[in-house]
Amino acid sequence: MSSQNPVFIPGPSNIPERLRRAIDVPTIDHRSDSFAELFRPLFAGVRKVMKSSDAEVIFFPATGTAGWEAAITNTLSPGDRVLAARHGMFSQRWIALCRRHGLDVQTIEAPWGAGCPVDAMGEALTRDVGHRIKAVLVTHNETATGVRSDVAEVRHALDAARHPALLFVDGVSSIASMDFRMNEWGVDLAVTGSQKGFMLPAGLAILGVSQKAVAAMDTATCPRCYLDLRDMLMANAKGGYPYTPPVNLLYGLGTSLEMLDEEGLENVFARHQRIAEGVRRAVAAWGLELCARSPDLYSDTVSAIVVPDGFDGTKIVTHAAEKYGTAFGVGLGEVAGKVFRIGHLGSLTDVMALAGLACAEMAMADLGLPVRLGSGVAAAQEHFSRTGPKALSQAA
Ligand SMILES: *Cc1c(COP(=O)(O)O)cnc(C)c1O
Repeated sequence: MSSQNPVFIPGPSNIPERLRRAIDVPTIDHRSDSFAELFRPLFAGVRKVMKSSDAEVIFFPATGTAGWEAAITNTLSPGDRVLAARHGMFSQRWIALCRRHGLDVQTIEAPWGAGCPVDAMGEALTRDVGHRIKAVLVTHNETATGVRSDVAEVRHALDAARHPALLFVDGVSSIASMDFRMNEWGVDLAVTGSQKGFMLPAGLAILGVSQKAVAAMDTATCPRCYLDLRDMLMANAKGGYPYTPPVNLLYGLGTSLEMLDEEGLENVFARHQRIAEGVRRAVAAWGLELCARSPDLYSDTVSAIVVPDGFDGTKIVTHAAEKYGTAFGVGLGEVAGKVFRIGHLGSLTDVMALAGLACAEMAMADLGLPVRLGSGVAAAQEHFSRTGPKALSQAA
């Protein structure tokens, strides 16, 4: 029975009924015309979501982590320097992955709860007159802390320093839920996955690759085979794959893109923003604070909520799972135990969000946190009743 509750983890997100049906299809021959027909429209569809006019779009049967790996191994060589900020578990993991591939990572430390430190990145780029830095890594939405960083500002820093480094962005928990502008921000490689904003099961690493990043493939010597973009681009151009494609997920992606298009991308972003704001008002009504240090950093897909001293955030998550059959996210890395997370991305309505907030309240109250039942729900209700989806369409 508990499996019928929606999840409130920041990925994998809830899979809507329409997508569960879309992936339930019999086997087809992936070397047939019917595969090519299903496959071809996906490129333009993802380009639209990433707001890119000319990116190569790639679908590896893998997850976001493989997207990080494909980004660096296809464009860089061992010993190349990359510049990255560490301000959460996901930015940290990407840095660790780069080191394992023998890259020279210049890391800028920032507090967990802060955004990508653009000023310090800009200084590092300006100081790098010999252009040793080959790529800059940015985690658009740090899922561990609920922090959105300003990718446009990183692009400005690169331009102000007249630095030619490639700009790689982890958009795994933002793309298709929050505004992402690959062209405008001059992103050379955008990474995402199927199980967050696209509302599908895990299994597709989705990459947007600029022509500048494609050109970097020719000189990159990091070892790669399964994740080699050259094999993939060559096979894709003929409507196929260098190996067996995850056909069912690609069917699902076609329908996911349809759903995003039917709702309208800007409406999808507005819905995420509205639901996130309802959650934030609930957190304020509980007398708690977000891990994100200031409103400009607030993520519209996940909120990391700081628990009062003396309480363990992980216990809230365990208790909610055991007693109420509902999943929230635990704190990771440096903020383990200090926060718990409410994921609010993908297929989510105001009503589902209210259920999650009600459950979080019960779990906290059961454990003795000073949270009054109904307080957060009421704050979110007030927000949703004023701004709900119908209110929006009437205003439009
Ligand atoms: C989920 C996530 C990833 C990738 O995780 P996978 O489990 O490999 O799909 C990477 N970065 C961010 C910011 C994420 O939220």
